[in-house]
Amino acid sequence: MEKIPYKIYLNESEMPTAWYNVRSDMKKKPAPLLNPGTHQPMGADELAPVFCEELIRQELDNDTPYFQIPDEILSFYKMYRPSPLVRAYCLEEKLQTPAKIYYKFEGNNTSGSHKLNSAIAQAYYAKKQGLKGVTTETGAGQWGTALSMACAYLGLDCKVYMVKVSYEQKPFRREVMRTYGASVTPSPSMETEVGRRILAAHPGTTGSLGCAISEAVEAATTREGYRYVLGSVLNQVLLHQSIIGLETKTALDKYGIKPDMIIGCAGGGSNLGGLISPFMGEKLRGEADYRIIAVEPASCPSFTRGRFAYDFCDTGMVCPLAKMYTLGADFIPAPNHAGGLRYHGMSPILSELYDEGLMEAVSVPQTKVFEAAEQFARTEGILPAPESAHAIRVAIDEAMRCKETGEEKTIVFGLTGTGYFDMVAYEKFHDGKMDDYIPTDEDLEVGFSKLPKVD
Ligand SMILES: *Cc1c(COP(=O)(O)O)cnc(C)c1O
Repeated sequence: MEKIPYKIYLNESEMPTAWYNVRSDMKKKPAPLLNPGTHQPMGADELAPVFCEELIRQELDNDTPYFQIPDEILSFYKMYRPSPLVRAYCLEEKLQTPAKIYYKFEGNNTSGSHKLNSAIAQAYYAKKQGLKGVTTETGAGQWGTALSMACAYLGLDCKVYMVKVSYEQKPFRREVMRTYGASVTPSPSMETEVGRRILAAHPGTTGSLGCAISEAVEAATTREGYRYVLGSVLNQVLLHQSIIGLETKTALDKYGIKPDMIIGCAGGGSNLGGLISPFMGEKLRGEADYRIIAVEPASCPSFTRGRFAYDFCDTGMVCPLAKMYTLGADFIPAPNHAGGLRYHGMSPILSELYDEGLMEAVSVPQTKVFEAAEQFARTEGILPAPESAHAIRVAIDEAMRCKETGEEKTIVFGLTGTGYFDMVAYEKFHDGKMDDYIPTDEDLEVGFSKLPKVD
């Protein structure tokens, strides 16, 4: 058989033309979003002041297996996709492992991550609805950057609430967003009622994603012609991100490769959900079996130590309630946590799949994550985002296990992005100033105690 190339590229003509909706193959569907006041399931009418119409349709559709990708979105995708599936020959050699390691690299666009795949879709539907603009939050800044790129392309206004600590620590990210025409406000801000309320209760707070979400939602619902968009967690985002998994599957099929395990980092679950979707579909239909592994930080362990319960998606409690693995909307990782993936909750789709035992989850301490990041950079050349390095960590661990047992397993992992804007975190690691604070059960109890009572 011909040697598998270092990079498996697809032709444009081999690109997927429809997104795959994994919910269509789930026997037990993810739980519906609930109104935070009445605890009743939210229908399209109720969601319409917050989200774009077509995106609501995608959000609520548990049955349609495929959604055609509009031509305009496909043309945008073609500027930076298909993304390569890389055989990590150099890493395998370095590790002296019999395992075969592949990674799907999503960092080949200016935003530096997979988030652009959903940003362009969400901006497109907002534009199609005739809206003036969209609002959103951003933590580390990748989502805000992706959305500002998509909005610039389509001529939409883009208003980003950026978690204050990142706004101050990542001035370059902020300027990239402004280059694409977005306005960027540090959150919490005095611009919104919820921001003022949070600042009054916690003066000097450096913000959190949950806080910034509340502000962005308020900004959208109080402005004519604006809607709110979210870069992860929601069903629609996993749908758009299925492009990652569909391309991966096509590339593997081209060479008759069948993975034994698929590994991805999990913050809100969108890259992992997208990567595994077609494989999980096969698993759900009983056509194939794979080990699927979510990797999360030990300092923000939603899957491995969270509760599967209805919770607020934001700190200000203005968003719908979602049933998910959660640490509680008030949970904020320790200040020294530097590796991203700091959202308190998890995609309701992945939460349901995990609860049914269809996938696994592991948590890893951050110094081990940065060790893996550095090892990867030095062998495969790419400087990984700290988020992505969670997946690298476990891929290396699994490859080393193969070395012990002599098994030639095939490992596929998602390399979600590059880490050029994360050098402060790398610096902490290099200077030995990074620790592995892991929340105690008592720490977590604080978040759990504020979960809403839903029956
Ligand atoms: C946002 C982000 C993640 C985590 O988000 P998910 O929704 O869990 O995929 C992972 N890697 C990178 C590079 C990101 O920007």
